[in-house]
Amino acid sequence: KSILLSFDRIELNGTTYALLIANDITERKRLENEFISLVSHELRTPLTSMMGSLDLLSSGQLGGLTEQGQQVLSIGVKNAERLIRLINDILDLERIRSGKITMNRRSCNLADLMIQATEEMQAMADRSKIQLSTEPVSILLNADPDRIVQALTNLLSNAIKFSPAQTTVQMQACSSGHTPSVCISVCDQGRGIPSHQIQTIFERFQQVDTSDARQKGGTGLGLSICRNIIEQHGGRIWVESTVKQGSTFYIELPLNT
Ligand code: ADP
Repeated sequence: KSILLSFDRIELNGTTYALLIANDITERKRLENEFISLVSHELRTPLTSMMGSLDLLSSGQLGGLTEQGQQVLSIGVKNAERLIRLINDILDLERIRSGKITMNRRSCNLADLMIQATEEMQAMADRSKIQLSTEPVSILLNADPDRIVQALTNLLSNAIKFSPAQTTVQMQACSSGHTPSVCISVCDQGRGIPSHQIQTIFERFQQVDTSDARQKGGTGLGLSICRNIIEQHGGRIWVESTVKQGSTFYIELPLNT
């Protein structure tokens, strides 16, 4: 259930009373999510077709374009790609949140997942001149390997995006026998996150800087998707960060579940 709490006050016979109002907004939230999903589906079809047209234009099959024409076209392609990413993220998040996608859990080795995520992000790190390193740890997990790799690549991609060249991004893991669990960390030397935003960045569409979506190509949904994936595995995700020094994101997953 989703409950919205608000405060108000009323005056009765010269006495002021404080009112605590609880609204059940479960149905409103459900309709909101349904609406988002419907609109996104409707947007994806024409957008995919538009992408096809733009691709055809840039392939040169319909005749060459002037240099300026190519430039304008590449801006169009970039923005269409951004919209597709946004719609895919919205749909993904909605499906995970609503339980339409269930985690396909099976036995997998964390080391393989760490290596796969790093390999996927290597080209991006190279382009940004960032040294990406991983210390894979061999531990058996009962998890959805694709979704864990998705969460890890998301953290690595953010670490690279928000770090200057010639810095390092490091992924490590360690297990704790106390409450059997494994903790994976992604550490960067980037711009960091102001302390008052440490909590909100895990919410939908929350970005530290409103220009992040435009300049860094993000959607503000990545961390929300990560959190949903990790929570569906019974784990938790959090971040420790110092502005201008860097951030470390942690994912803790229970073992033996
Ligand atoms: P986005 O698609 O914008 O990256 P996310 O949900 O993944 O969306 O991240 C939300 C916001 O959190 C980002 O826009 C950025 O402002 C901040 N952020 C995430 N990771 C980092 C990081 N490693 N260093 C600094 N800021 C970060």
